[in-house]
Amino acid sequence: MVAAEKAFPNWRDTPAPKRAEFLFKIRDLLIKNKDRLARLEVKEMGKVYKEAAGDVQEAIDIFEYMAGEGRRLFGRTTPSELKNKFNATIRIPIGIVGLITPWNFPIAIPSWKIAPALICGNAIVFKPSSDTPLCAVELVKIIEKAGLPKGVLNLVTGSGSRVGNPIIKHSKINGLSFTGSRDTGKFIRENAGLKKVNLELGSKNAIIIMEDANLQLALDGVLWGAFGTTGQRCTAASRVIIHEKVFSKFQTMLVNKARKLKLGNGLSKATDIGPLINKAALEKSYRYVDIGKQEGAKLLCGGEGVKGKGFFFKPTIFTNVSPSSRLAQEEIFGPILALIKIKNFEEAISVCNEVKYGLSSAIYTENMQYAFRAINQLEFGITYINSSTIGAEVHLPFGGTKDTGWGKEAGWSLDEFSEEKAVYIDFSGKLQKAQGIE
Ligand code: NAP
Repeated sequence: MVAAEKAFPNWRDTPAPKRAEFLFKIRDLLIKNKDRLARLEVKEMGKVYKEAAGDVQEAIDIFEYMAGEGRRLFGRTTPSELKNKFNATIRIPIGIVGLITPWNFPIAIPSWKIAPALICGNAIVFKPSSDTPLCAVELVKIIEKAGLPKGVLNLVTGSGSRVGNPIIKHSKINGLSFTGSRDTGKFIRENAGLKKVNLELGSKNAIIIMEDANLQLALDGVLWGAFGTTGQRCTAASRVIIHEKVFSKFQTMLVNKARKLKLGNGLSKATDIGPLINKAALEKSYRYVDIGKQEGAKLLCGGEGVKGKGFFFKPTIFTNVSPSSRLAQEEIFGPILALIKIKNFEEAISVCNEVKYGLSSAIYTENMQYAFRAINQLEFGITYINSSTIGAEVHLPFGGTKDTGWGKEAGWSLDEFSEEKAVYIDFSGKLQKAQGIE
């Protein structure tokens, strides 16, 4: 805290294009270290190499994008209601911001926060997940190597209760950007006082497959959305809502493919799916398999771990899932998929929306009317047409509706890390009163 406090004024007063020079250097160093970081990520949290490399690429992209903001950070001008008066806005930093991040994208998510926080002129206290401290240490070392002034970025490792809690409550921290579970987000909201808070929380995402969909294309999208990163993405598809005319055909295609996915070491090219993050996640997956069975859903494949082998869990598919069941409503964050049958487009939209979350959604259809109506009617922060629920690009807004939280992440997060300040310049040489006061 002391280091951040000391560093803040100088960093705030550094012109944004100069701040950007550090971000460009960080980007270059990330490119040089991409393979090393990706390998570390595979070893530390288990995702397969190509996905880990994608995670590092997102970090590269956001530093590049935010470096460009150094020469924009646009304010606005607007006419005054009075003569000889000039009105404008400028962006000012929030001050010291606390960043708290999860383990599932241990390089990208911290970067999605650090890059905009830096370009806006904030000092940072950064707490990564205690499941992935090594990735955080390596990322911060790279940022230090780029020459960032001491104290501007401060890494604190440790658990949520011991380290996260004091950050949330600290009176000198003016803003918080948090990515993680709904429960922790709720706790932060209740304990952060009047800080500016950005919350990126869980979700229950869905893919809709209409009767006219290209089923092969949809199959690839569902496999990627449901089982990529072992289902541990905030944008993972955990519900597939399928038109009754193609339901049984698609179900057979999906189960046949899912059974063939290979679990293993993420560094091996033959591996499709890595392990879950930890024992608690494995136990949670088992728990939801029991819940699904108790609720009357039919298990088609998977439903268990791999004996004697760490935290692996087989790709699991349930059918006959009721849209209101826990299996279809609650975030599981594992490779467990619920198939739901619907009769028409209206029912598909209504089932898709009837969850408390709203991050990502997708629809497979060749019908332009379905596609455009879905864009308007799906209550999610992200909608894909003929593509899976995952695959965000950093220059589009990332964030959700409802219990998925508040604010935007990545390229559209300048509002989270700065305030737009109003500036009035009166050059009339006399006291002029607004609001029509004579
Ligand atoms: P989590 O348990 O909420 O933890 C996230 C971070 O919060 C960790 O650094 C954790 O620390 C910290 N934390 C936990 N309790 C805290 C407390 N009382 N005070 C302050 N900090 C606290 O979530 P997770 O299991 O790591 O991540 C999975 C969740 O993140 C899923 O729900 C997923 O959907 C969500 N997620 C959302 C997005 C999005 O953009 N919407 C992206 C990725 C993930 P420790 O774990 O070190 O104790």
